[in-house]
Amino acid sequence: MTVLPSTEFLHLVIDGQTRNVVRLHERNCTCGRFQLDDIPCPHAMAVIQKFHMDSYKYCSDYYIIDYLLKTYEIPVNLLPNETTWQIPEDVSSQLMSLLKYNKLEAIYMQLLYIIRNTNGAPDTT
Ligand SMILES: [Zn+2]
Repeated sequence: MTVLPSTEFLHLVIDGQTRNVVRLHERNCTCGRFQLDDIPCPHAMAVIQKFHMDSYKYCSDYYIIDYLLKTYEIPVNLLPNETTWQIPEDVSSQLMSLLKYNKLEAIYMQLLYIIRNTNGAPDTT
């Protein structure tokens, strides 16, 4: 990739036929991955490496090990076995129709139903 600086934080990155504009101070790139993942995309990494900058400076704090560990400080209740779920018939039939079209959406609906009906504390018996 070829990196052409425009200003200190604005760069044009040419990769074959594609061109992307990287704005390091805004943590974004015209490819969209930098702002979506909150971690430098390959174009941003090309700029960072060319100018020997610290790539960690442009990563979200959520990727830092301390933040990751804090995610698991709070106990997470396990979901009960699927065979013990008590799903009303009308909900079950809706889930089956959803399942025909989008399995992930159906699973999401099931989980949402369980969470709402257990107040976040599933029956573990
Ligand atoms: Zn990019």
